[in-house]
Amino acid sequence: MAGCQEGRKAGNNPMIVLSGLDLHEIEKITDELKASKFRARQIHNWIYLKSVKSIDEMTDLSVKFREQLKDVAAVTDTKIKVKQESADGTLKYLLEYPDGECVETVLMRFDNRANLTACVSSQVGCAVNCSFCATGKRGFIRNLTYKEIIEQVLTIQRDTGLKVTNVVFMGQGEPLLNLDNVLKAMEIFNENFQIGARRLTVSTSGIIPGIERLAELDMQSTLAISLHAPNHEVRRKLMKIEDKYSMPELKKALKTYIEKTGRRITIEYLLIKDLNDTLGSVKELVSYLHDLKCNVNLIPYNPTEKNDYQKPSNNSIMRFKSLLEQSGKKVTVRLERGADIDAACGQLSGKVKN
Ligand code: SAH
Ligand code: SF4
Repeated sequence: MAGCQEGRKAGNNPMIVLSGLDLHEIEKITDELKASKFRARQIHNWIYLKSVKSIDEMTDLSVKFREQLKDVAAVTDTKIKVKQESADGTLKYLLEYPDGECVETVLMRFDNRANLTACVSSQVGCAVNCSFCATGKRGFIRNLTYKEIIEQVLTIQRDTGLKVTNVVFMGQGEPLLNLDNVLKAMEIFNENFQIGARRLTVSTSGIIPGIERLAELDMQSTLAISLHAPNHEVRRKLMKIEDKYSMPELKKALKTYIEKTGRRITIEYLLIKDLNDTLGSVKELVSYLHDLKCNVNLIPYNPTEKNDYQKPSNNSIMRFKSLLEQSGKKVTVRLERGADIDAACGQLSGKVKN
């Protein structure tokens, strides 16, 4: 990317990366360069609203000032290592940060809708290690900083020239185990990208202390819970985290969350053939959810690497859906986006494939 090549004249001083800086931080740079605060506002707009790839594209700054800026700063230090486009228009990026670690980010476009949804990663790998998930197989490598999280959306915007309207934390990693960075990134999405709180979704495997913190903060974004099972026994087979934060405790935390925030939550339920898609499972699930203010999102299992799980038939998915609907819940079935490029839920490993 052009931005990576900028500002090499700076000798031994490390480059300042403009992506991810707030207005105040950009003002510090313009102050140093003895420019007016208005220049900082212009730079801020170029980064967040016009998604430029290089300082040279900031055409309302004088050529002389651009040269000065290039001496100390660059737009980004993140590289697009691989980009894939699915037949349905979904884009998947493998991004490389300066330390060589990579994560995947997905842009989903839905027909007939103006929404452009970025599915971002919050960690490299994941410690939770759910048995059905490709990210979990990698183990935990490191947290992403808030700048690295927002860089994913900026990269999409720079590359496509499009404005992302919604962000879901459903890429690699467990957002509630990197909550400080996730919260800061959400604040920046809100203030700098002008993406409303209601257009942000945080998905978690059910980290109770994190849910409690979000309740205290009165979070107005959507909280999605990866429940995936109707009872303790099935859940612990799928998600080891159930041994630490079990379904009854989780429910207590969710009730408090709903009371404090007044928000409806989303329950994500992975459907795996003969494991949790049976008639008995729907009954148990209905009973667990009956007093929770929630919508349910059914996710047909996406086959990843070696395990014995299978996706249920369409008939079985529809039967599960309609039985759940009869209990009064609003139920959606997640559309499989980008399956042909391994961009569907749970398929993001972030491993560099040669
Ligand atoms: N760690 C968080 C967010 C990232 S995973 C969480 O677990 O909620 C985003 C969603 O993808 C979760 O609901 C997760 O359970 C689901 N997922 C993981 N592997 C999957 C697979 N193979 N098929 C379908 N969904 C999967
Ligand atoms: Fe981690 Fe979520 Fe995958 Fe579980 S499903 S291993 S919590 S990324």
